[in-house]
Amino acid sequence: MALIVHKYGGTSMGSTERIANVARRVAKWARAGHQMVVVPSAMSGETNRLLALAKELAPGKPATPYYRELDMLASTGEQASSALLAIALQAEGMEAVSYAGWQVPIKTSSAYTKARIDSIDDQRVRADLNAGKVVIITGFQGVDEGGNITTLGRGGSDTSAVAVAAALKADECLIYTDVDGVYTTDPRIVPEARRLQTVSFEEMLEMASLGSKVLQIRSVEFAGKYKVPMRVLSSFTAWDIDITEEAKSGTLITFEEDDQMEQAVVSGIAFNRDEAKISVLGVPDKPGIAFQILGAVAEANIEVDMIIQNVSKDGKTDFSFTVHRNEYARTIDLLKDRVAPALGATDVLGDPKICKVSIVGIGMRSHVGVASKMFRVLSEEGINIQMISTSEIKTSVVIDEKYMELAVRALHRAFDLDQVVAA
Ligand code: ASP
Ligand code: MG
Repeated sequence: MALIVHKYGGTSMGSTERIANVARRVAKWARAGHQMVVVPSAMSGETNRLLALAKELAPGKPATPYYRELDMLASTGEQASSALLAIALQAEGMEAVSYAGWQVPIKTSSAYTKARIDSIDDQRVRADLNAGKVVIITGFQGVDEGGNITTLGRGGSDTSAVAVAAALKADECLIYTDVDGVYTTDPRIVPEARRLQTVSFEEMLEMASLGSKVLQIRSVEFAGKYKVPMRVLSSFTAWDIDITEEAKSGTLITFEEDDQMEQAVVSGIAFNRDEAKISVLGVPDKPGIAFQILGAVAEANIEVDMIIQNVSKDGKTDFSFTVHRNEYARTIDLLKDRVAPALGATDVLGDPKICKVSIVGIGMRSHVGVASKMFRVLSEEGINIQMISTSEIKTSVVIDEKYMELAVRALHRAFDLDQVVAA
């Protein structure tokens, strides 16, 4: 008997019919002798619908009291889907109980709309499991010290599920979603993309942060920190497929680097169109410049990704970095109004139409020339590289957004990701 956590995404919970199928699948796992905890997302579209209602009423510049109410509002989506799943399980003849985050409780920071989980009390859940019940816990939400409801950021149910699995020391956390696993790249861009049977936790972390939308990045961080065995698999297989087959399907996120993984130098190509590039030109090259520019940006709560500083000429240098596209206008304003005048910079330039393309693979550690091969492939396609950043297991480039698909396809081919490797 194992303790298993299932997480179902919004599409999997998208209608009463689908919820009934989730209930049947969960019941099958429970009847096979497993203790089951289920973490559902809101029904698909529900979170967007709720947030759009709020926007209708308050289009202006929001502040903390507004964000508090947003969380109060958005968390109802998961409360509804959790109760519906409990009802569906009961109709299946299972004993089932659902809890909102605050009832567990799942304690979080007070950062509304992007709270972080601090702790999860497992007592109530364990008691129910020991009494033979299926326990359903709302994804996406928690409660802060002051008893206010918080949410964990869009896609946060993944993180809820992994955190619950960590707190309960679950044997595995299965993330059921509308794709059947983690792919070498997005199959909508490259039809030849293949599903990976296993991906290392580190690669998954890079892929999630580099733009692969399969898992919320924090869920991967959590899985890594607490060594939660995690699998991404399809919720669209028939609910009554053989359970041993189901348990092996999808993509397993592993912590050990097995031999097979070592063979693939590059495991996946990630891309991200959500960033914008900003350059501050002609700043004096002296100590404290990076801090003055990026400190001001950080203070405004704007996250920075890639950073480049050029060699200086005549005591002046250029400084470039990327931010989320949603923060583009705000960052430009901040730099033009406050930072550039104070520094005596000559200009602030920006380009929101960029994209970041990355190759990821733990094999890059032990192979040389991987990055240069990437640059060669891009040059053969006539694609200009604007920025480069590397880590041990990834190389990212910023290029013009209009070449994104071309770049991803060419790299996918060049690194032999189209080819099926023997399992
Ligand atoms: N319902 C929330 C969202 O749409 C959380 C989730 O689905 O993971 O972002
Ligand atoms: Mg999701």
